[in-house]
Amino acid sequence: MKPSTFVTHPPSVTVPDDNRALVAPIYQTVKFTFDNVEETERQAHGEREGFWYSRKTNPTLRQLELTLAGLQGREACLLTASGVAAVDLTMLALCRQGEHVIFFAEMYKPTQYMIRRVLGRYGVRHTLLSIDDVDEIERTLASTPTRLVVFESPSNPVLKVADISRIAALARKHGALTLLDNTLAGVHNHGQFDVDVFVHSLTKYVSGHGDVLGGAVIANQAIIDALRTEMAIFGASLDPHAAFLMQRGLKTYFLRYERQCQNAMTLANYLESRSEVSALRYPGLKSHPQHELACAQQHDFGSMIAFDLQGGPEAARKFAEALSLFSISASLGSTESLVLAPQLLQPRDFDAQQTAWSAITESTVRLSVGVEDIQDLIGDIEQALAASGTHTS
Ligand SMILES: *Cc1c(COP(=O)(O)O)cnc(C)c1O
Repeated sequence: MKPSTFVTHPPSVTVPDDNRALVAPIYQTVKFTFDNVEETERQAHGEREGFWYSRKTNPTLRQLELTLAGLQGREACLLTASGVAAVDLTMLALCRQGEHVIFFAEMYKPTQYMIRRVLGRYGVRHTLLSIDDVDEIERTLASTPTRLVVFESPSNPVLKVADISRIAALARKHGALTLLDNTLAGVHNHGQFDVDVFVHSLTKYVSGHGDVLGGAVIANQAIIDALRTEMAIFGASLDPHAAFLMQRGLKTYFLRYERQCQNAMTLANYLESRSEVSALRYPGLKSHPQHELACAQQHDFGSMIAFDLQGGPEAARKFAEALSLFSISASLGSTESLVLAPQLLQPRDFDAQQTAWSAITESTVRLSVGVEDIQDLIGDIEQALAASGTHTS
């Protein structure tokens, strides 16, 4: 073998069965091979175990799929290159031209864009409602044959809590599938409900460190099997190295999540005591309109807090800029604390009704609380409230 051949076909190293790596190695390979055509064909037809092409899946991805499916209490999972790919491509794979989708004004903006602008272009019809109005969901399901009910709980950014069991039961009764974007609640919440498909942005709590994008679709085996072929064709697959980082992130998922929830609860209580703050929403607060529903549905209440500043948009902008531990940034659920000012949250293409439903006003602030020391975080909020020029009454 000449050197140029040798480097193309390097020596293979096999690890004995009784000598395992404690942390699974990264299968940074696109292709897999069998010894002959027959076994290759059998694998392609699902007649034997094995892997073929990493766009579909790969052992590193499979470990993460199994972990996430287990956490969410479902049989199967498939991974995507980002959270939006999980949401958007699942809807694309599940909907046909002429079918109808119900979604909500309180949801993550790119999901709304996908349904209104992109699926709309391909002839998928939609009805936009408020997640608060379950009676209207029921009327719409009864009057319009519906393929999908797409919702979030808690919703991003104002943390409305959806009545999941009621919505799931109504959808089931009327032959619609439910698609729950469970990103804010996390992979350990809501598995007890009769939801057909969960989607997550793994970029948030699963990665946990704000350094890698990824998404997951979690459902029963039949749905995932049906989706996997089309997802592989769409091609927004998760890279094995990103999957490895997600798997590593999961080892501290509960430690981070618990600490973030604790910090958020303490901070929410502090904010509630401040006269500059109104319309405070944290599902763990008794004053949250759906606190009891949140207690019944969730193990914990997450790390997101939304509120309005009495001083209006300018005060909210100054508040965000005066914070030093909270960075002005998108995303959520990472170790570091983040803030979004109203100028960065307001929907641009809503009518008055939809704007009211969204509950985002011109002075709404969203916090994502990290794992820092709680006294440092409170101190930072305190000095930023003072710097915001918000008048106390
Ligand atoms: C962030 C987010 C997404 C999109 O996730 P990416 O990984 O950034 O693509 C989808 N849904 C919700 C609720 C999110 O918060």
